[in-house]
Amino acid sequence: MSLLPIITIPDPILKSTAAPVNEITPEVSLLAADMTETMRHFRHCVGLAAPQVNKSLRLIAVDVSLYHKPHPNHGLLVLINPVIRHAEGKLSGREGCLSVPDLTGNVTRAKKVLVEGITLKHAPIRLEAEGFEAVVLQHEIDHLNGLLFLDRVSSLKTDVFRRKSY
Ligand code: ZN
Repeated sequence: MSLLPIITIPDPILKSTAAPVNEITPEVSLLAADMTETMRHFRHCVGLAAPQVNKSLRLIAVDVSLYHKPHPNHGLLVLINPVIRHAEGKLSGREGCLSVPDLTGNVTRAKKVLVEGITLKHAPIRLEAEGFEAVVLQHEIDHLNGLLFLDRVSSLKTDVFRRKSY
């Protein structure tokens, strides 16, 4: 496995709609393993989407279990072609992104989501997530549709903040 370089704005791949994964090839499995390793390498990084490592594919890795505050979660989730089937409630919080290294932003998202996808073992998966994990899933699935948290803030003037270091 290896650490993958992170693509940052304004790279156009971050604005592109990612292609579905049609077959779970050894390359896709390796990409997922590398994405997981890369995610864990960065402190505070709880999710990564394939476009962030220069692969325009519908593949995400999420793991909020190591985050410093305890949150209900499913541990490591590697999801292929993930889709939000249902969303409810509202939750606002500060978001950051490895692909937007200098900024954070206040974003309002659904509090609870029902997500469907496929696991690396070709099995369909359907899970309910809430709170922080739900937010991270929405953030990563947004990447597959060419959306960044900057596209979700209500105001670029009042809801985006410059950070000192990631
Ligand atoms: Zn991100």
